[in-house]
Amino acid sequence: MRKKDICSCTYKELQMEMQEIGEKPFRAKQIYEWLHVKLAGEFDEMTNLSKALRQKLEEQYEIRKVSMIDRQISKMDPTEKFLFELYDGNMVESVLMKYNYGNSVCISSQVGCRMGCRFCASTIGGKLRDLTPSEMLGQIYQIQKICGERISNIVVMGTGEPLDNYDNFLKFVHMISDEHGLHISQRNITASTCGIVPNMKRLAEEGLQITLALSLHGSSQQKRQELMPIAKKYELSEVLEACDYYFEKTGRRITFEYSLVQGVNDTQEDLKGLVDIMKNRNCHMNLIPVNPIKERNFRKPSRKNALEFKNKLEHNGINVTIRRERGSDIDGACGQLRRRHIESQEEN
Ligand code: SAH
Repeated sequence: MRKKDICSCTYKELQMEMQEIGEKPFRAKQIYEWLHVKLAGEFDEMTNLSKALRQKLEEQYEIRKVSMIDRQISKMDPTEKFLFELYDGNMVESVLMKYNYGNSVCISSQVGCRMGCRFCASTIGGKLRDLTPSEMLGQIYQIQKICGERISNIVVMGTGEPLDNYDNFLKFVHMISDEHGLHISQRNITASTCGIVPNMKRLAEEGLQITLALSLHGSSQQKRQELMPIAKKYELSEVLEACDYYFEKTGRRITFEYSLVQGVNDTQEDLKGLVDIMKNRNCHMNLIPVNPIKERNFRKPSRKNALEFKNKLEHNGINVTIRRERGSDIDGACGQLRRRHIESQEEN
C-alpha cells in the first residue's frame, strides 16, 4: 500500500493526523510550514523536528514528487512552460506568465481531459486520471522554487476540467489560500469551466472569493454544441443561469472565454448572439484567437478581424479584451507540450 500523500492534507487534517500518531497538535503547524511555505521535498529537511519524528513521518507518509522534465522559455515575452512528471509517470504541464502586477501560474487539474472540446489539444487521448491537491499545489511550488520569485496569481486553465475533479480542486483552493501556507488571495485565483452546471452551483455555495471563468465559445446552443460536446448535456440557458447564480452568491463578476475560430464563431450572427447574452450581465469577455493544433483544421481570424470583432462588442457596451497571446513560440496551446512528449515516447 502507498504511504499517505501528506501534501494533500489540509491544515486541519494534518492536525488530526498528528493526534492519531501521538504527536502534539503544534507539530502540524511546523510540518505544514515546511511543506507549504518552505516547500521542503524531504522530511529530512525539517530540521526543527527530532530525528525520531522525521523517521516516523517517513514511515507513514510520502511527499509526492512533482518533477520538472522540460522547461521552455519564450523568446517573445516573459513566459515559460513547464512539463512535470508525477509519481506514477504521468505528465502535466503548467505555464508561468510574468506581468507587471506579479507572477501568474496556469496549472492543470487532470491528466488529460474527457470534455472533448474540438479545438483543444488536452482532450486528445482522453482523461487518464484526476490530480490530487498535492499535485495541483506541486506545480506552483516547483515553479516558485525554480524561478525563485513569489507567485501571486493562479489560473486553473491548463489541462483538465476542475469541476470534473471537484473535491480535489476545492481542497486545492482552500490550501493555496490558507494562511498557514502560501496564502495566495482567493481574489487572485481564477478557475475556468466548460460549464458543468451542478458543480458551478455547488461552487457558488462554498463561500469562496475566486473568479469563475466560463468557456462560452458559442453564441447559441447550436453553435456551442458544435464545438463543445459537454454543451449537449448542459444547455446554454442552464449554464448562463448557473453563472448568474454564481454572481448572486459571491458578488464575483463572471469572465466569459470565447476562443475565436475563423468562419466558425466569428460571424455577424455570433456578434449579435454574444451581445444578447452579455448586455444585461455583470461580466467580462476574454477573446482568445484560437491556437491551432495540428490534429484539427481550425484557424484563427486575422488580427484585424479579431480587433474588429472586439470593437463591435465594445460599441454595444460589452466589457471585452483580447487575451494577449503569450508564448506562442513554445507550444502555447493547452496540452501541446504534453502531447508532443507523449508522441515522442510513442515513436520510440
Ligand atoms: N476545462 C476548462 C479549463 C481548461 S482550458 C475549460 O474548459 O474552461 C482553458 C481555456 O482555454 C478554455 O476556455 C478552453 O476552451 C481554451 N482553449 C483550449 N484550447 C484552446 C486552443 N487551442 N485555442 C484557444 N483556446 C483554447
